[in-house]
Amino acid sequence: MPLKYFNESEFNDFKMMDKKLLNMLDNLREAYGSPIKITSSYRSPDHPIEAKKKAPGEHAYGAAVDIASVGGETTFKLVKAAMDVGFTRIGVSRKNNFVHVGIGYPDAPPITLWTY
Ligand SMILES: [Zn+2]
Repeated sequence: MPLKYFNESEFNDFKMMDKKLLNMLDNLREAYGSPIKITSSYRSPDHPIEAKKKAPGEHAYGAAVDIASVGGETTFKLVKAAMDVGFTRIGVSRKNNFVHVGIGYPDAPPITLWTY
């Protein structure tokens, strides 16, 4: 089923994205009520960011995206919308201005909020 708010071209490797994540992202966009810019989606395990980790993270499962967000009220509203549609793994980067939302992977903490 095509997404309501996103084109496949907004993801660097659409076929690798988890369908549940994509549906939740559409719901998030609906709840947020404003355009969303995806800054990172699928990352292969040998992507420099994933390769640095002890084990590949959510992006390597197609189970997360990063969304541009400059802080303040817009980030508050984005995080609230993410929680409202059921995201329970959220990271907020003030340094690089994005919000990470993910649905997890085996052995990942199911409910967590972090900053970076
Ligand atoms: Zn991320």
